[in-house]
Amino acid sequence: MSDCIFCKIVEGTIPSKKVFENESVYAFHDIAPSAPVHVLIIPKAHYASMNEVTDFNDIAEVHKAAVQIANNLGVAESGYRLINNCGSDGGQVVYHVHYHLLAGEKLGGLNG
Ligand code: 5GP
Ligand code: ZN
Repeated sequence: MSDCIFCKIVEGTIPSKKVFENESVYAFHDIAPSAPVHVLIIPKAHYASMNEVTDFNDIAEVHKAAVQIANNLGVAESGYRLINNCGSDGGQVVYHVHYHLLAGEKLGGLNG
């Protein structure tokens, strides 16, 4: 998708701090971190939001990558949160489906 910033990050035309990449997934540090560890994990395939996903294997691959990234960053044991914001009320700003991996401190909200 030519006007999508996350597609441009995957292509390398917008720089990012990469933390993980495989055939179907790309992950990078969020530009405005909300926690000591704040990584965005995205399928390379462009889906505007979770509502547009047609092949949920891409989402399974994102979840698999999240566990690997948590291990690589040393936060698997202490714990982490995976968040997908979907649509306007969900707080989605960038319309390329993505998960936030937050960790590195006791996270507030929800049950925190
Ligand atoms: P959303 O609210 O859509 O779930 O989250 C979008 C996230 O993308 C935000 O946390 C924001 O800081 C991050 N973000 C937006 N533009 C860029 C960018 O160009 N590079 C990086 N690394 N993160 C970005
Ligand atoms: Zn995209």
